[in-house]
Amino acid sequence: MKSGTTVTKPQVSEETMASDSPIPIVSGSMFSIFNSSLNSSVDFPSGESVHLFMRKNFPGTTLSDWNSWIWQIKNSIHSAERLKEIFGESYENVISSLPENHLPFRITPYFASLLNRFAPDHPLFRTMIPAKEELTTGEGEKNDPLNEGNDTPVPHIVHRYPDRVLFTVTGFCAAYCRYCTRSHMVAKKNKTHVSSKSWDRAIEYIASKEQVRDVLISGGDPLTLSDSRLEYLLSRLRAIPHVEIIRIGTKVPVVLPMRITKNLIKIIKKYHPVMMSLHFSHPDELSIETKEACNRLADGGIPLGSQCVLLKDVNDNVETFKKLNHELLKVRVRPYYIYQCDPIPGSAHFRTEVKKGIEIIQGLRGFTSGYAVPHFVIDAPGGGGKIPLLPEYVKKIDNEGITLINYLGKEYIYPEKC
Ligand code: SF4
Repeated sequence: MKSGTTVTKPQVSEETMASDSPIPIVSGSMFSIFNSSLNSSVDFPSGESVHLFMRKNFPGTTLSDWNSWIWQIKNSIHSAERLKEIFGESYENVISSLPENHLPFRITPYFASLLNRFAPDHPLFRTMIPAKEELTTGEGEKNDPLNEGNDTPVPHIVHRYPDRVLFTVTGFCAAYCRYCTRSHMVAKKNKTHVSSKSWDRAIEYIASKEQVRDVLISGGDPLTLSDSRLEYLLSRLRAIPHVEIIRIGTKVPVVLPMRITKNLIKIIKKYHPVMMSLHFSHPDELSIETKEACNRLADGGIPLGSQCVLLKDVNDNVETFKKLNHELLKVRVRPYYIYQCDPIPGSAHFRTEVKKGIEIIQGLRGFTSGYAVPHFVIDAPGGGGKIPLLPEYVKKIDNEGITLINYLGKEYIYPEKC
C-alpha cells in the first residue's frame, strides 16, 4: 500500500469501540460484554491443589468463576495484606513503600495458587513479588534502557528494524514481572488499556510504510484485551496488504492460562499467519493449566516461540534451562530467545554476568536437540537492537583451513583454503 492510502476498516462489530474501558474496572453491566469468553473457558483443567487453594482463599468461588479470565483479573492480588493472608509471609515493607510511579505489584489468583505449590524461597516468588533491592537505582540503569522513545515516530510504535515494528497496544498486564524492560510504560495511571481510537495513528503509520511486513503486538500484554478489541486490532492489521505476519508477545499463558479460550483461538485463526512469543522464566511455570493453554494455541495453528530473561537465582544455570526447554518443546513451544536482563532501575539483583548466558548456550548446544537451544541476545542499551552472543566455536582460520571446536572441546579442521 502506498503512503497515504486509506486504511481499510475491519468487518468486526462496533462493540469493539464500546469496550475501550480497561478490564480492571469491568463490573456490573460491563461484565456481560465478556460472557462469551466466560462460557468458553469453563472446561479448563485444574488440579486438586487448585481446588483446595480456591476454597481456602476465595470461599464461595465456583470452578466456573475460577476458570474465567475476567474473574481472575477482577480478583487479582495487589496488596501486602492479601498476600499475607494467603502466604502468611509479610511483604508489607516493600509493597507498601513502592513509589507511586513504580511498577505496581499484581498477580492473578491462578498464579498465587501456582506459587502456593512451592516453598516461599522458590525462584518464581522472586519474579513477581517486589524486593527491597528494586527501590535502588544502580549505575548505568535507566528507565528506558533500550531508548525505544527515540524510535517512536507515532505513539505506540517502535520502528527500529527495517521491515518490522513493535506496536505497544496496552499498558496493562495480568501480572507485573519485577524485571520488566518496559516497566517505565506499563501499569501507569491512565495507562491501562488505551482506547481503540488511540491505535489509529499507529495503524495508519504501519499502512503508510510498505516495508513493514511484520508487526509485533506487545505492551503490556495484548491478550488482556477483550476478544472484541483483539479481533478489531487483528482485523485492522490484516487489512494492510504488506503486513505478512502478525506476532503477539504475551505472558498470559503463564499467569492467566484460562484466557486461552476456544473463542480466542477461533478469532486468531481468522487472521493467520499469527505467531506468538510466550514469556517464560522457569520450568515450574509449566503447570497442567499452562500446558493446556500452549496446546490450545498450537492446535490453533499458531507457531509458538519462547522468550526468557536470564535472571539471577531464578534460571541462571544450564539444568534449569535444559528442563524448561524440554518441557516447552513437549507443548510445541520452540525455545527462541534468552535475553540478558536489561538494566532498568533496581534490576542489579536480577542481572547475571553476560558470560553466564554464553555458558548456558555452551551447556545446551550438542548436549541436547538443536530445537532446545535458543539464541542468547543482549538488547543493546541505547537502541542498538538485539545482538546475539555465541560461545567461541572457531579457533582459527589459516592456510590449513578452519579450526573448529566441538561441543566437547575437541578440535576439528574443515579444509577450506583461504
Ligand atoms: S508481562 Fe511483559 S510487559 Fe507485562 S510486566 Fe511482564 S515483562 Fe513486562
